[in-house]
Amino acid sequence: MGFLLDRAKSIYCFTNTLPSIHTGYSKTGMSVQKTFLFSIDFEEFETLPSQENFRQTPLPTLAKLLLDFLKKSQMVTTFFVVGKVARAYPDIISAIFDAGHELACHTDQHNTLNTLDPSKFRVDLEHNRAALLSAAPRAVVTGFRAPLLSLTPQTSWAYNILADLGFAYSSSVLPASNPLFGWPGFGTTPRQINGIWEVPITLGSGWRRSLPFAAGTYFRCLPMRWILKEFERSEKIASPIVGYFHPYDADIHQQYVLHKEMVRTPYLNPLLYWGRKQTIPRLRMLVEIGFVFDRYDHHFKKTRTYARTEGNERAFL
Ligand SMILES: [Zn+2]
Repeated sequence: MGFLLDRAKSIYCFTNTLPSIHTGYSKTGMSVQKTFLFSIDFEEFETLPSQENFRQTPLPTLAKLLLDFLKKSQMVTTFFVVGKVARAYPDIISAIFDAGHELACHTDQHNTLNTLDPSKFRVDLEHNRAALLSAAPRAVVTGFRAPLLSLTPQTSWAYNILADLGFAYSSSVLPASNPLFGWPGFGTTPRQINGIWEVPITLGSGWRRSLPFAAGTYFRCLPMRWILKEFERSEKIASPIVGYFHPYDADIHQQYVLHKEMVRTPYLNPLLYWGRKQTIPRLRMLVEIGFVFDRYDHHFKKTRTYARTEGNERAFL
Protein backbone atom coordinates (compact mmCIF):
# COMPACT_ATOMS: atom_id res chain seq x y z
CA MET A 1 0.00 0.00 0.00
CA GLY A 2 2.94 2.30 0.64
CA PHE A 3 3.77 2.01 -3.01
CA LEU A 4 0.27 3.14 -3.94
CA LEU A 5 0.41 6.10 -1.60
CA ASP A 6 3.74 7.12 -3.07
CA ARG A 7 2.30 6.74 -6.54
CA ALA A 8 -0.75 8.87 -5.68
CA LYS A 9 1.53 11.50 -4.17
CA SER A 10 3.68 11.56 -7.28
CA ILE A 11 0.65 11.97 -9.54
CA TYR A 12 -0.70 14.93 -7.61
CA CYS A 13 2.59 16.27 -6.19
CA PHE A 14 1.41 15.99 -2.58
CA THR A 15 3.67 15.91 0.41
CA ASN A 16 1.71 15.05 3.56
CA THR A 17 -1.88 15.57 2.58
CA LEU A 18 -3.01 12.08 1.65
CA PRO A 19 -5.27 10.32 4.15
CA SER A 20 -4.16 7.15 5.86
CA ILE A 21 -6.43 4.13 5.79
CA HIS A 22 -9.02 4.37 8.52
CA THR A 23 -9.68 1.42 10.76
CA GLY A 24 -12.45 1.36 13.32
CA TYR A 25 -13.02 -1.59 15.60
CA SER A 26 -15.91 -4.01 15.69
CA LYS A 27 -17.23 -5.78 18.77
CA THR A 28 -15.01 -8.71 17.87
CA GLY A 29 -11.93 -6.55 17.44
CA MET A 30 -11.92 -6.89 13.64
CA SER A 31 -10.86 -3.75 11.81
CA VAL A 32 -13.42 -1.91 9.70
CA GLN A 33 -12.25 0.20 6.77
CA LYS A 34 -13.75 3.59 6.10
CA THR A 35 -16.73 3.39 3.79
CA PHE A 36 -17.49 5.70 0.90
CA LEU A 37 -21.13 5.38 -0.11
CA PHE A 38 -20.32 6.16 -3.68
CA SER A 39 -23.54 5.82 -5.66
CA ILE A 40 -24.81 6.44 -9.16
CA ASP A 41 -28.02 8.24 -10.10
CA PHE A 42 -28.69 6.23 -13.22
CA GLU A 43 -30.39 8.62 -15.62
CA GLU A 44 -30.06 10.29 -19.00
CA PHE A 45 -28.70 13.84 -19.35
CA GLU A 46 -31.95 15.68 -20.08
CA THR A 47 -31.96 18.86 -22.11
CA LEU A 48 -34.58 21.05 -23.77
CA PRO A 49 -36.70 19.56 -26.61
CA SER A 50 -35.05 21.94 -29.12
CA GLN A 51 -31.64 20.43 -28.32
CA GLU A 52 -32.55 16.77 -28.09
CA ASN A 53 -30.28 15.54 -30.88
CA PHE A 54 -27.09 16.57 -29.12
CA ARG A 55 -23.98 14.41 -29.33
CA GLN A 56 -23.41 12.23 -26.27
CA THR A 57 -22.10 8.82 -25.34
CA PRO A 58 -24.97 6.29 -25.25
CA LEU A 59 -26.08 5.31 -21.75
CA PRO A 60 -25.20 1.59 -22.27
CA THR A 61 -21.60 2.60 -23.06
CA LEU A 62 -21.37 4.77 -19.95
CA ALA A 63 -22.90 1.97 -17.87
CA LYS A 64 -20.24 -0.42 -19.14
CA LEU A 65 -17.51 2.10 -18.30
CA LEU A 66 -18.76 2.41 -14.72
CA LEU A 67 -19.35 -1.32 -14.28
CA ASP A 68 -15.86 -2.09 -15.61
CA PHE A 69 -14.30 0.40 -13.18
CA LEU A 70 -16.22 -1.12 -10.26
CA LYS A 71 -15.37 -4.66 -11.29
CA LYS A 72 -11.65 -3.92 -11.65
CA SER A 73 -11.75 -2.14 -8.28
CA GLN A 74 -13.66 -5.08 -6.72
CA MET A 75 -16.22 -2.62 -5.36
CA VAL A 76 -20.00 -2.65 -5.28
CA THR A 77 -22.35 0.30 -5.09
CA THR A 78 -25.96 1.43 -5.25
CA PHE A 79 -27.56 2.50 -8.53
CA PHE A 80 -30.53 4.85 -8.01
CA VAL A 81 -32.38 4.17 -11.25
CA VAL A 82 -35.05 6.28 -12.98
CA GLY A 83 -38.05 4.13 -13.95
CA LYS A 84 -38.24 5.24 -17.60
CA VAL A 85 -34.54 4.43 -17.98
CA ALA A 86 -35.11 0.94 -16.59
CA ARG A 87 -37.87 0.36 -19.13
CA ALA A 88 -35.68 1.63 -21.98
CA TYR A 89 -32.64 -0.47 -20.98
CA PRO A 90 -33.82 -3.55 -19.05
CA ASP A 91 -30.72 -5.51 -20.09
CA ILE A 92 -28.46 -2.93 -18.45
CA ILE A 93 -30.49 -3.02 -15.25
CA SER A 94 -30.28 -6.80 -15.04
CA ALA A 95 -26.52 -6.59 -15.79
CA ILE A 96 -26.08 -4.11 -12.93
CA PHE A 97 -27.95 -6.46 -10.59
CA ASP A 98 -26.03 -9.53 -11.81
CA ALA A 99 -22.75 -7.70 -11.16
CA GLY A 100 -23.67 -7.51 -7.47
CA HIS A 101 -24.85 -3.91 -7.17
CA GLU A 102 -27.93 -2.64 -5.37
CA LEU A 103 -30.89 -1.30 -7.34
CA ALA A 104 -32.82 1.57 -5.78
CA CYS A 105 -35.41 4.12 -6.92
CA HIS A 106 -34.81 7.60 -8.33
CA THR A 107 -38.48 8.25 -9.27
CA ASP A 108 -40.16 7.10 -12.45
CA GLN A 109 -39.94 10.31 -14.51
CA HIS A 110 -37.18 12.21 -12.70
CA ASN A 111 -39.47 15.00 -11.58
CA THR A 112 -38.35 16.88 -8.47
CA LEU A 113 -40.53 16.33 -5.40
CA ASN A 114 -41.73 19.95 -5.28
CA THR A 115 -43.57 19.29 -8.57
CA LEU A 116 -45.42 16.30 -7.10
CA ASP A 117 -47.89 15.77 -4.26
CA PRO A 118 -48.20 12.72 -1.99
CA SER A 119 -50.63 10.83 -4.24
CA LYS A 120 -48.66 11.52 -7.43
CA PHE A 121 -45.43 10.56 -5.70
CA ARG A 122 -46.90 7.27 -4.54
CA VAL A 123 -47.98 6.30 -8.06
CA ASP A 124 -44.66 7.46 -9.52
CA LEU A 125 -42.67 5.42 -7.00
CA GLU A 126 -44.76 2.30 -7.59
CA HIS A 127 -44.06 2.57 -11.33
CA ASN A 128 -40.36 3.17 -10.63
CA ARG A 129 -40.04 0.05 -8.48
CA ALA A 130 -42.11 -2.06 -10.87
CA ALA A 131 -39.76 -1.11 -13.72
CA LEU A 132 -36.73 -2.22 -11.69
CA LEU A 133 -38.35 -5.50 -10.68
CA SER A 134 -39.45 -6.17 -14.24
CA ALA A 135 -35.80 -5.98 -15.33
CA ALA A 136 -34.37 -7.71 -12.26
CA PRO A 137 -37.09 -9.78 -10.58
CA ARG A 138 -34.82 -11.03 -7.77
CA ALA A 139 -33.82 -7.52 -6.67
CA VAL A 140 -34.90 -6.23 -3.25
CA VAL A 141 -35.62 -2.54 -3.75
CA THR A 142 -35.70 -0.61 -0.46
CA GLY A 143 -33.76 2.60 -1.22
CA PHE A 144 -34.71 5.97 -2.66
CA ARG A 145 -33.08 9.18 -3.83
CA ALA A 146 -35.06 12.26 -4.80
CA PRO A 147 -34.07 13.93 -8.09
CA LEU A 148 -31.73 16.89 -7.49
CA LEU A 149 -31.85 16.08 -3.75
CA SER A 150 -35.27 17.74 -3.68
CA LEU A 151 -36.30 16.32 -0.30
CA THR A 152 -36.67 19.42 1.86
CA PRO A 153 -38.89 20.43 4.82
CA GLN A 154 -41.58 21.33 2.26
CA THR A 155 -41.54 17.86 0.69
CA SER A 156 -40.90 15.80 3.82
CA TRP A 157 -44.34 14.22 3.35
CA ALA A 158 -42.38 11.86 1.10
CA TYR A 159 -41.19 9.90 4.16
CA ASN A 160 -44.76 8.78 4.91
CA ILE A 161 -45.15 7.43 1.38
CA LEU A 162 -41.76 5.70 1.50
CA ALA A 163 -42.73 4.04 4.79
CA ASP A 164 -46.14 3.00 3.43
CA LEU A 165 -44.49 1.35 0.44
CA GLY A 166 -42.00 -0.58 2.56
CA PHE A 167 -38.84 1.37 1.79
CA ALA A 168 -36.01 1.31 4.36
CA TYR A 169 -33.94 4.36 3.56
CA SER A 170 -33.56 7.53 1.56
CA SER A 171 -30.43 9.47 0.63
CA SER A 172 -32.09 12.60 -0.66
CA VAL A 173 -31.07 15.49 1.59
CA LEU A 174 -28.37 18.08 1.01
CA PRO A 175 -28.09 19.44 4.57
CA ALA A 176 -27.10 22.96 3.52
CA SER A 177 -28.37 25.99 1.64
CA ASN A 178 -28.10 25.54 -2.12
CA PRO A 179 -29.30 27.41 -5.23
CA LEU A 180 -31.43 24.37 -6.16
CA PHE A 181 -32.56 22.38 -3.10
CA GLY A 182 -31.28 22.02 0.43
CA TRP A 183 -32.30 21.36 4.03
CA PRO A 184 -29.89 23.43 6.15
CA GLY A 185 -31.29 22.37 9.53
CA PHE A 186 -31.29 18.65 8.88
CA GLY A 187 -27.93 17.86 10.46
CA THR A 188 -25.02 16.00 8.96
CA THR A 189 -25.53 12.47 10.28
CA PRO A 190 -28.07 9.80 9.31
CA ARG A 191 -31.29 9.72 11.30
CA GLN A 192 -34.73 8.15 11.09
CA ILE A 193 -37.83 10.04 10.03
CA ASN A 194 -41.15 8.21 10.17
CA GLY A 195 -39.24 4.93 10.21
CA ILE A 196 -37.15 5.77 7.15
CA TRP A 197 -33.40 6.22 7.54
CA GLU A 198 -32.30 9.43 5.84
CA VAL A 199 -28.62 9.37 4.93
CA PRO A 200 -27.65 12.98 4.06
CA ILE A 201 -24.92 13.86 1.60
CA THR A 202 -21.58 14.52 3.33
CA LEU A 203 -20.43 18.15 3.46
CA GLY A 204 -17.00 19.71 3.77
CA SER A 205 -15.55 21.64 6.70
CA GLY A 206 -14.69 25.29 7.39
CA TRP A 207 -15.60 27.57 4.51
CA ARG A 208 -16.35 24.44 2.46
CA ARG A 209 -19.07 23.34 4.91
CA SER A 210 -21.86 23.76 2.36
CA LEU A 211 -20.02 21.82 -0.37
CA PRO A 212 -20.71 18.12 -0.94
CA PHE A 213 -17.09 17.41 -1.83
CA ALA A 214 -17.64 13.68 -2.50
CA ALA A 215 -20.36 14.22 -5.10
CA GLY A 216 -20.32 14.54 -8.90
CA THR A 217 -19.73 18.14 -9.89
CA TYR A 218 -17.91 19.09 -6.68
CA PHE A 219 -15.73 15.99 -6.83
CA ARG A 220 -14.78 16.78 -10.43
CA CYS A 221 -14.22 20.52 -10.04
CA LEU A 222 -12.66 21.10 -6.61
CA PRO A 223 -8.90 20.73 -6.28
CA MET A 224 -8.03 17.14 -5.40
CA ARG A 225 -5.87 18.38 -2.53
CA TRP A 226 -8.98 19.83 -0.85
CA ILE A 227 -11.04 16.74 -1.53
CA LEU A 228 -8.44 14.49 0.03
CA LYS A 229 -8.25 16.72 3.09
CA GLU A 230 -12.00 16.41 3.49
CA PHE A 231 -11.83 12.64 3.09
CA GLU A 232 -9.12 12.59 5.72
CA ARG A 233 -11.22 14.68 8.11
CA SER A 234 -14.28 12.54 7.45
CA GLU A 235 -12.37 9.44 8.45
CA LYS A 236 -12.69 10.59 12.05
CA ILE A 237 -16.48 10.69 11.86
CA ALA A 238 -18.45 7.53 12.56
CA SER A 239 -20.85 7.93 9.64
CA PRO A 240 -19.85 6.88 6.13
CA ILE A 241 -18.83 9.43 3.51
CA VAL A 242 -21.83 9.90 1.23
CA GLY A 243 -21.67 11.13 -2.37
CA TYR A 244 -23.47 10.74 -5.68
CA PHE A 245 -22.47 10.53 -9.34
CA HIS A 246 -24.20 10.33 -12.72
CA PRO A 247 -23.25 8.48 -15.91
CA TYR A 248 -22.62 11.85 -17.58
CA ASP A 249 -19.94 12.64 -14.98
CA ALA A 250 -17.76 10.26 -17.02
CA ASP A 251 -18.95 11.28 -20.50
CA ILE A 252 -16.03 13.21 -22.00
CA HIS A 253 -17.55 13.28 -25.50
CA GLN A 254 -20.86 14.98 -24.75
CA GLN A 255 -21.75 18.13 -26.67
CA TYR A 256 -22.37 21.24 -24.56
CA VAL A 257 -26.11 21.80 -24.08
CA LEU A 258 -28.23 23.35 -21.35
CA HIS A 259 -29.53 20.80 -18.86
CA LYS A 260 -33.31 20.82 -18.47
CA GLU A 261 -33.05 21.59 -14.75
CA MET A 262 -30.66 24.51 -15.30
CA VAL A 263 -33.03 26.81 -17.20
CA ARG A 264 -33.41 29.09 -14.17
CA THR A 265 -29.74 28.87 -13.22
CA PRO A 266 -27.87 28.68 -16.56
CA TYR A 267 -24.74 30.11 -14.91
CA LEU A 268 -24.40 26.77 -13.11
CA ASN A 269 -24.65 24.67 -16.29
CA PRO A 270 -20.89 24.73 -17.13
CA LEU A 271 -20.27 22.97 -13.81
CA LEU A 272 -22.02 19.90 -15.23
CA TYR A 273 -19.18 19.60 -17.76
CA TRP A 274 -16.02 20.65 -15.98
CA GLY A 275 -13.50 18.02 -14.94
CA ARG A 276 -15.19 14.97 -16.41
CA LYS A 277 -11.85 13.48 -17.43
CA GLN A 278 -10.96 13.39 -13.76
CA THR A 279 -13.96 11.42 -12.50
CA ILE A 280 -12.70 7.85 -12.95
CA PRO A 281 -9.00 8.57 -12.16
CA ARG A 282 -9.96 10.36 -8.93
CA LEU A 283 -12.29 7.55 -7.89
CA ARG A 284 -9.57 5.02 -8.68
CA MET A 285 -7.19 6.99 -6.49
CA LEU A 286 -9.57 6.71 -3.51
CA VAL A 287 -9.75 2.96 -4.03
CA GLU A 288 -5.97 2.73 -4.20
CA ILE A 289 -5.44 4.57 -0.93
CA GLY A 290 -7.86 2.30 0.90
CA PHE A 291 -11.42 3.61 0.86
CA VAL A 292 -14.13 0.98 0.48
CA PHE A 293 -17.07 1.71 -1.80
CA ASP A 294 -20.23 -0.05 -0.73
CA ARG A 295 -23.95 -0.50 -1.32
CA TYR A 296 -26.24 1.28 1.13
CA ASP A 297 -28.10 -1.91 2.08
CA HIS A 298 -24.86 -3.80 2.74
CA HIS A 299 -23.57 -0.92 4.83
CA PHE A 300 -26.72 -0.98 6.96
CA LYS A 301 -26.28 -4.69 7.59
CA LYS A 302 -22.57 -4.35 8.39
CA THR A 303 -22.93 -1.44 10.78
CA ARG A 304 -25.56 -3.23 12.77
CA THR A 305 -22.88 -5.79 13.59
CA TYR A 306 -20.82 -3.21 15.43
CA ALA A 307 -22.31 -0.47 17.52
CA ARG A 308 -19.28 1.69 18.07
CA THR A 309 -16.23 2.76 16.14
CA GLU A 310 -12.95 4.25 17.19
CA GLY A 311 -13.59 7.19 19.52
CA ASN A 312 -16.76 5.50 20.82
CA GLU A 313 -18.96 7.39 18.41
CA ARG A 314 -22.13 5.69 17.30
CA ALA A 315 -22.11 4.43 13.75
CA PHE A 316 -25.46 3.78 12.07
CA LEU A 317 -27.89 3.06 14.90
ZN1 LIG B 1 -31.12 12.50 -10.86
